[in-house]
Amino acid sequence: MQKAIQSDVLVIGGGLAGIVTAIECLRAGKSVILVDRDTPERLGGLALWAFGGMALVDTPVQRRMKLKDSPEIALKDWLRYGELGEQDVLPRKWASYYVEHSREQVYDWLTECGLSFMPAVNWVERGMQGNGNTLPRYHVVWGTGQRLTLRMIELMRQADSGNCLTVLSNHEVLELELTHGVVVGANAINHATGENVQMAAQTVVLAMGGINGSLEQTRANWVKGRPMPTTMLNGAHPYASGKLHHLVAGLGGQITHAGEMWNYAAGVPHPKPHFEGHGLSLIPCKSALWLNHRGERIGPEPLVVGFDTHTLCQRVAAQEKPYVWHLLNWRIAIKELALSGAEHNQRIRDHQTLMFLKETLLGNHRLVKQMVCESRHFLVDDTLAGLAAKMNALAGTNDVRADVLQKTADAFDANFVLGDRLYNDEQIRRIEHARHWGPDKMRTCKPAPLQARGAGPFMAIQTQLITRKSLGGLQTDLQSRVLDARGQAMEGLYCVGEAAGFGGGGACGKRSLEGTFLPGCILTARSAARSIVAGRGLSHA
Ligand SMILES: Cc1cc2nc3c(=O)[nH]c(=O)nc-3n(C[C@H](O)[C@H](O)[C@H](O)COP(=O)(O)OP(=O)(O)OC[C@H]3O[C@@H](n4cnc5c(N)ncnc54)[C@H](O)[C@@H]3O)c2cc1C
Repeated sequence: MQKAIQSDVLVIGGGLAGIVTAIECLRAGKSVILVDRDTPERLGGLALWAFGGMALVDTPVQRRMKLKDSPEIALKDWLRYGELGEQDVLPRKWASYYVEHSREQVYDWLTECGLSFMPAVNWVERGMQGNGNTLPRYHVVWGTGQRLTLRMIELMRQADSGNCLTVLSNHEVLELELTHGVVVGANAINHATGENVQMAAQTVVLAMGGINGSLEQTRANWVKGRPMPTTMLNGAHPYASGKLHHLVAGLGGQITHAGEMWNYAAGVPHPKPHFEGHGLSLIPCKSALWLNHRGERIGPEPLVVGFDTHTLCQRVAAQEKPYVWHLLNWRIAIKELALSGAEHNQRIRDHQTLMFLKETLLGNHRLVKQMVCESRHFLVDDTLAGLAAKMNALAGTNDVRADVLQKTADAFDANFVLGDRLYNDEQIRRIEHARHWGPDKMRTCKPAPLQARGAGPFMAIQTQLITRKSLGGLQTDLQSRVLDARGQAMEGLYCVGEAAGFGGGGACGKRSLEGTFLPGCILTARSAARSIVAGRGLSHA
């Protein structure tokens, strides 16, 4: 069976980047086909699961918190933290564009779209030596990525003034259609019916997500010389296979920075996986001790979350075994444990303000109990000896000796014997620094002994590296046009979102200031749409 359809614009990929492109093109009177590999319920891609954190510069929320941010400060942070070199011409251009326009193109635009942000900004990725975000700029969309995505889908439907929009779910693009070397459409298979569909369009927008949705791709792209663990979980999109990237590369497009990834250091297998190898990324507790497979504290510099995710991942990846342990107690867990994404942040997702405040102030027993109940990687015991036995049972080894675990806890707790004037531990120093910022203070315990009376039971969580975003992708200019090896725009071909490395084939360089991904999708998509509508894509009429 074969079907042929056509439109002004063909968008391949129904994630946030593809949907925003579609909204803007439809609003300008273009007809759009949006084709997506996933099911209709999962239209929206990763953004549907996302937490909704966004790095935004000089916003009203920051100003209310008396933060004087500016594109200049943010750009300095961005380039230094991402280690962007002089050769990263296009990523640097996108970085500048981002910091200059995130306020009006993302914050103001989303507000006009009927979305709002939580009233506090968080201070993430501060850098190990203060070389990350010099200011808090992590804004959270009220309703998480889920609300953001559903609202975008709603706006896309509303922008269809009459049969201008065709959404094809369950359709996988297998080939790009060419005439005289120019992309003029694509061929897809409908996985629900087996039907082949030929789609012709003046302009084709690639919005198929990242490269590292499969672990094979992740391993193949891993930067040589960086430690790579023998096992990892998958927290990326299972259909972000990189196949279309390679098809376009075969036509002259350039894939750059493919080895750069934004992975996370503390994943656990998803208790209800959506696909094979699916992981959940914990936002681990700042006060937990990170231990190696023997139950010894990893050092000499202890691991602490919230300062440098890239370095944390490398430290975890360099361990002898592909997992680490977090040692904590119930008091820490209820205040500090969180999980990334819409799924486990229901108070924010479902606008339950009072319950959100209650759980923030009094502790989130609900989440901790849920994880203990659903995940066998969360272990609880009244004694450290009992915990060591459970850790060994889970790992299937005898690596954790009860006396070693006891020594680890005692050594940390010794810091508190002489009082807080005499603390001398890097993790405690970092925790105290974090607690100077109000929103962090609400979510971080005052330093205390692990074995403090009434703080139990003890907990151990076994975590491993989890993949997430591809920082590299197809090289694009500031109009999101795909460039060839000579730096020329390829006729009628655009690329947006994670597929384009959030702009320029790798706008973040080696590290993200965090929360640069959803805004990166919006910025690249809106730039593409503006260029398409203005007819700058050299589209073949
Ligand atoms: C749990 C979680 C939490 C996150 N939290 C945040 C956060 O707080 N802040 C932030 O900035 N980022 C966050 N992210 C990352 C962010 O969600 C993604 O980077 C972003 O949504 C990517 O959007 P995209 O449209 O570029 O690609 P995707 O969302 O990956 O969408 C690509 C789409 O293309 C489709 N596709 C792929 N190949 C084909 C093909 N051949 N034919 C047809 N269709 C195809 C796929 O089905 C998919 O729907 C999070 C991600 C996850 C998983």
